Amino acid sequence: MINLVLFGKPGAGKGTQAAFLKTTFNLVHISTGDLFRYNIKNETKLGKLAQSYMDNGDLVPDQVTIDMLEAEVDQNPEAEGFIFDGFPRTEAQAAALDTFLKTKSMHINATIALEADDDILVQRLLERGQTSGRTDDQDESKIRNRFDEYNQKTAPLRIYYNGQNKFHSVNGIGAIEEITARLTALIESLN
Ligand code: AMP
Repeated sequence: MINLVLFGKPGAGKGTQAAFLKTTFNLVHISTGDLFRYNIKNETKLGKLAQSYMDNGDLVPDQVTIDMLEAEVDQNPEAEGFIFDGFPRTEAQAAALDTFLKTKSMHINATIALEADDDILVQRLLERGQTSGRTDDQDESKIRNRFDEYNQKTAPLRIYYNGQNKFHSVNGIGAIEEITARLTALIESLN
């Protein structure tokens, strides 16, 4: 079993790359952003709770996100491994994930950060916003707020996973297939 965390600022290409990696390595892809958007679309209680945070580009509170993530893992008992996309985003989430996986005799094998400059990411997100309909991708100040959230709350996870010798960094600039090749080589090199 292999369990991966894909890390990176909004627009770094986590979702795009996770879609390739899940096929190559036979993993279940869990994107907390996608799960929240699904709940918003279906007007669930969880969706209503998450919406205002997402609209502003703020993180949804930890416990809400952790509960949702754990329920999703529990719904996939046959999985040969998971690719977590957009989770964990805070140290509390990372610690909760470690504790939760331990109860299932599972663990994170590697955390991989897709790195790209902010200005490139803003351009990518504004372009995506034109077709995705995502309001959080259509306004530069909301995008910059998501970067601030990342810098303040998510970037420190580099230290958390480095402490476990599980942190890897990959250049997220280039053609999609080049980046997939970089990630694939890295994952294949994990023991
Ligand atoms: P994403 O699709 O990963 O860019 O996430 C979109 C939005 O969903 C974020 O800006 C947050 O509001 C919310 N979100 C997604 N994942 C998390 C998480 N792990 N913790 C808190 N909020 C999250």
